[in-house]
Amino acid sequence: MAEKTVIEIEDMVTVGTLAERLSIPVSRLIAELMKNGVMATVNERIDFDTAEIIVDELDLGVTLAKRAEEEAAEIVHAKPAAGDNAEPRPPVVAVMGHVDHGKTSLLDAIRNVNVAGGEAGGITQHISAYQVEHEGRVITFLDTPGHEAFAAIREHGALLTDIVVIVIAADDGIKPQTLEAIRFARKAGVKIVVALNKIDKPGADANRVKQQLSDNGLLIEEWGGDTVVQEVSAKNKTGINELLNMILLVADVEELKADMDVPARGLIIEAHVEQGRGPVAQALVEAGRLRPGDYIVAGASYAKIRNLETTEGKPLKEATPSMPVAISGFKTLPEFGDEFKVVDNEKSARNQAAAAIAQKRTSTGQLDIGSSELIRRINRDRQLSELNVIIKADVQGSLTSVIDSLKALDTDEVSVRIVGSGVGPVNENDLHLAHSSGAIVYGFNVNLPSSSKQQAARDKIQVRLYQVIYELIDDAKTELSSLLSPEIVETDLGRLVVKGIFKTTKTEIICGGEVTKGKLKAPALARVSRGDEQLAEVQLTGLRRGPAEAREVVEGEMCGMSLATTKRLELQEGDRIDSFTRETKQRQL
Ligand code: GDP
Repeated sequence: MAEKTVIEIEDMVTVGTLAERLSIPVSRLIAELMKNGVMATVNERIDFDTAEIIVDELDLGVTLAKRAEEEAAEIVHAKPAAGDNAEPRPPVVAVMGHVDHGKTSLLDAIRNVNVAGGEAGGITQHISAYQVEHEGRVITFLDTPGHEAFAAIREHGALLTDIVVIVIAADDGIKPQTLEAIRFARKAGVKIVVALNKIDKPGADANRVKQQLSDNGLLIEEWGGDTVVQEVSAKNKTGINELLNMILLVADVEELKADMDVPARGLIIEAHVEQGRGPVAQALVEAGRLRPGDYIVAGASYAKIRNLETTEGKPLKEATPSMPVAISGFKTLPEFGDEFKVVDNEKSARNQAAAAIAQKRTSTGQLDIGSSELIRRINRDRQLSELNVIIKADVQGSLTSVIDSLKALDTDEVSVRIVGSGVGPVNENDLHLAHSSGAIVYGFNVNLPSSSKQQAARDKIQVRLYQVIYELIDDAKTELSSLLSPEIVETDLGRLVVKGIFKTTKTEIICGGEVTKGKLKAPALARVSRGDEQLAEVQLTGLRRGPAEAREVVEGEMCGMSLATTKRLELQEGDRIDSFTRETKQRQL
């Protein structure tokens, strides 16, 4: 067979570009896509897996390869370089690590406030940020959530940061989320400091973890590498000062600076609606001085800053780089990860926000077709079952996480279709939409106002409210499982080899023989076969051992049996009757 040419493409590629790379007319590619149920135009993008399927079908003697991730990956939010007049700024530190390794406890120990007790399900649910003082200097901590469902938020967390503190429980060692955190930190090009927590525990084994770290490419300082490791106990509050010292040392090497004499800008790190205050966003200032009364644009939203506060609620006259702040005065909710910047006046703010909305419309108009979408379309006639849901959450970050986690449940047979989503309590519109689409409404950390309860009850709409994300996901999983077609399970019982035939009618056979395998039971099903050929499937209705009825006959015994048939069947000596049961079982995802 001739060698295939390898062509490299990105994760997502437009139909036009792919045709060009393959040196075939676009029309041919579009036709092939259509044959596979994908209606894509020249500017629409398809993902690698889809491209691979289609290229395979086209049989061009070409195989596709994914362009190496390092090359294709872009740092989503590259920190802009500071100018000549830049001034030093505090480091921004994110604490990440596997669930239960002690992130919350460590942040608590650092801040000396007990938060962990008040968390739903023991998991930090939203990103937030605060500053601490150590040795007369300031450090900004981002409190990133721990559960794997929050991977989306955590990734943003890594991109906002200068230093990632990776918490590893010394008695448990490196776990999948530890590796994920290391990957994020590397991808974002930030420094890593390892906090080896729970060092007080009897099972703590610092050396084992250090070995695991070097196995994963992080060589620690004492072994000649550049990864700083500090042993701590969040519980006993030991090693905390040393950890903060190390963070400051690493920050000093980085020479973190920011421009002060530019219009303030930064990133939205959380947004929610507050009773009586409207949309409130938490943001991290990256450059300039932000003040109350400033006009800012953040993605498709804008604000005249009404209140500027620390994330703990203290009013501020001015916020400078690396400061986390709470901002009120937004017209609509900005989104997690939106960049914000100060503009001259309200008109400019409004126009820029409007432009962002328009841009968003066109970019969503440009459909991305993924392989799951391809499979979905191909399967449409093959009965792919969908679970319609509407999702409401308290803040944008959680909403994104819930949506991502639900989408991850999709299989070839069942998928979650999000017919609506948003931030805030479950409202009448959600219920209307649920009614017309037959959707389940999931609320995460939100309530169902009593005014809507009646409507929900009247229209028999299922509204399910959760405070713990994996309970919500589990519920959706159960719902999806119920959409799976049931599995048919057959269990072999035993075999009889026919020695004599006593009666044959169109609907009944009575015969006798020896059980050569297993155990026969009645009633059951049975297959009748002769040599390699299967003659029929029948019902085994009764068994006799001698003159007496028997419920079971085991291997080595002789017995008589009666079979119910749907057509006349001429049995012969030597035919085999294999008996079995058949059950349907609900499958689980
Ligand atoms: P997170 O999921 O990473 O935020 O972990 P938590 O901070 O909620 O801690 C998980 C569990 O480990 C809790 O029961 C803590 O009390 C316990 N824990 C945290 N740090 C330490 C420590 O230094 N020593 C001991 N013995 N237990 C700890």
